[in-house]
Amino acid sequence: MLIDSFGRRITYLRISVTDRCNSRCVYCMPLAGVPWKSHDEILRYEEIAEIVRVVAAEGVRAVRLTGGEPLVRPNLPELVGMLAAIPGIEDISLTTNGLLLEQQAEDLVKAGLKRINVSLDTMQPELFRRITRVGSIERVMRGLEAAEKCGLTPIKINMVVMRGINEDEIIPMARLSISRPWHVRFIELMPLGNQQPWGDGFPLPETMYYPIREIRAQLETLGLEPVLDKSGNGPAVEYHLHGAQGRVGMIAALGEAFCDTCNRLRLTADGYLRPCLMSAEEINLKEALRSGQPILPLIQQAVDVKPLGHELASRPAPEGRCMLQIGG
Ligand code: SAM
Ligand code: SF4
Repeated sequence: MLIDSFGRRITYLRISVTDRCNSRCVYCMPLAGVPWKSHDEILRYEEIAEIVRVVAAEGVRAVRLTGGEPLVRPNLPELVGMLAAIPGIEDISLTTNGLLLEQQAEDLVKAGLKRINVSLDTMQPELFRRITRVGSIERVMRGLEAAEKCGLTPIKINMVVMRGINEDEIIPMARLSISRPWHVRFIELMPLGNQQPWGDGFPLPETMYYPIREIRAQLETLGLEPVLDKSGNGPAVEYHLHGAQGRVGMIAALGEAFCDTCNRLRLTADGYLRPCLMSAEEINLKEALRSGQPILPLIQQAVDVKPLGHELASRPAPEGRCMLQIGG
């Protein structure tokens, strides 16, 4: 079993399958873009499966595929199938921007995908285009429909809340959980690799943080009913709105840090294991894999150096990688 020095059991691995993306979200990617890694630098599917085999034997039960945009990596269903066949893996989920979901949902489900999270920060087409710089909300909506038809439920919607940009959509987005069986989750903006101006008339990044207590205050006006059977493996605090089919959730990376229950490690697309999203510490698994060295001692090392918590609220984020290079 993988247990860190603070007694937290590691049962969940987030895997970035690519650092590439077909979108350009203002809070995730600098205006100038980022240099992509070459194909050789990125883990092959067999290498990812080998890492999952090793951690599954040590008690990891759930994996989430993310990126970059995971659906731009060719043949993703092939990887899902490989992971679904690994003994011990009970849950495979995906975080996506939804732009390619319409075409891929069915194959992903057939391969063993159980659940998806789709990032959607606004329901307004023009604002959606400004936030993503390139995306089309119509494509995302078609992707959501396809996912629903294939039974990828409950669909979780991730909304990053930004002051002066979309905080007036907290209530309408929350209401989507009444009209549809969706879980709508509100996420605090994190200062990761996005502190340069975002362009296109956006205010300065540091003025856009919208704390979870203000999100909660807005949601409380709708009447929040606590949920007893929490879904998923993540840190969202969940509620029902009265009469809702779905749920609302809040993810407070900064305002009410949830580090004491952290159960996860992250694998970057280029094969580094990161004990914590917010710390720059990383352990190179790819080198060991490619030179035939055992990787379990390195995984144990990553678990051992997992910090108790991050200090993002009081200190700047580590420089180096932006969100899509780590795997958000
Ligand atoms: N491309 C996929 C997507 O957008 O869902 C997966 C990768 S993306 C990095 C994963 C999640 O991180 C998305 O829900 C996105 O909104 C979120 N994210 C990215 N940058 C963020 C930031 N600076 N603060 C908070 N959430 C962020
Ligand atoms: Fe791409 Fe997702 Fe980052 Fe947006 S949030 S730029 S879709 S990786």
